[in-house]
Amino acid sequence: MWNGIIEQYRKFLPVTDKTPVVTLKEGNTPLLFACHLSKLMGDGIEVYLKCEGLNPTGSFKDRGMTLTISKALEEGSKAVMCASTGNTSASASCYSARAGIESIVLIPEGAIALGKLSQALIHGSKVIAIKGNFDEALTLVKEITRKHPITLVNSINPYRIEGQKTGSFEICDALGDAPDFHAIPVGNAGNMTAYWKGYKEYKAHGISKILPKMLGFQAAGSAPIVLRHPVKDPKTIATAIKIGNPASWKQAEAARDESGGLIDMVSDDEILAAYKLLAAKEGVFAEPASAASVAGILKLAKQGFFNERRTTNDERRIRIVCVLTGHGLKDPDRAIACAEKLKVLEPRIDLVLKEIGL
Ligand SMILES: *Cc1c(COP(=O)(O)O)cnc(C)c1O
Repeated sequence: MWNGIIEQYRKFLPVTDKTPVVTLKEGNTPLLFACHLSKLMGDGIEVYLKCEGLNPTGSFKDRGMTLTISKALEEGSKAVMCASTGNTSASASCYSARAGIESIVLIPEGAIALGKLSQALIHGSKVIAIKGNFDEALTLVKEITRKHPITLVNSINPYRIEGQKTGSFEICDALGDAPDFHAIPVGNAGNMTAYWKGYKEYKAHGISKILPKMLGFQAAGSAPIVLRHPVKDPKTIATAIKIGNPASWKQAEAARDESGGLIDMVSDDEILAAYKLLAAKEGVFAEPASAASVAGILKLAKQGFFNERRTTNDERRIRIVCVLTGHGLKDPDRAIACAEKLKVLEPRIDLVLKEIGL
């Protein structure tokens, strides 16, 4: 039976027998072979989708939050606080509710997807919208939690990274080894940092043999790491990665450089094309930010990136894992805006038959 990431990977995590485990049995998410996408990528390339939208609150944030809230409870904390583009607040409010502690979330006004906002509100968080962006919200939260007895639960909290690294353990467990490439959207860059840490630990323990090259993707209007300077007014439809000054900037660069990978950017059009392709061809509904990983590998494939890295005597297939970080239902407005306009007809058989071309 699966009892959540803390029970499953206890020996890799900073917990003791005394740690009260606050869990909704997160993790154990599907790693799906992407048939259509693999064909698009070219001969000998296998693409897998790590469907993190199937976590309890619909995003990978739950992996970090189960540990972060458990440790906050162990340390006697009565309240937690975060700034959020949406999913951190959804997860923090849910796990705090389960733990019986108070949560406060700061969100950028008008820049958070409907599903995420509904989660923070229904779980009973104190939700405050600020007339500013995520980076400004995070600055406020850092200041407040430094001066008051409130635990900060953004990914600068090291327990977030520790919990999130279990995603790479699950991928290695499923594939029998690490993949050759690991593609991931980059916002605050905590998740890229976490996956790289997880891959290194599994290899150090002799459980996996290889390390993947880490491929991070930012949205073009919000690509500080690619541009090598903070972006004051980040813009993208992928609200979960709309971040102009990532907290784990240096760590993401280290993951890129140590692994021999890269951090690139993809346009909103490329993100939306990948978003639709995932839903229409793979049957996987992920949120727009998640699709950045798929948009990224499609862009690289077009440039011949993967073929250049194939040596002539390497008959082995290239395996790429894309992390689909959050569920598509988080942002229903985007799905509806992207789809064809809904037809409304009188309830008459002739009209319906005509509409479907019969
Ligand atoms: C938080 C989030 C990201 C970005 O992750 P970082 O660790 O901030 O880089 C990407 N996609 C989704 C759906 C998220 O919720």
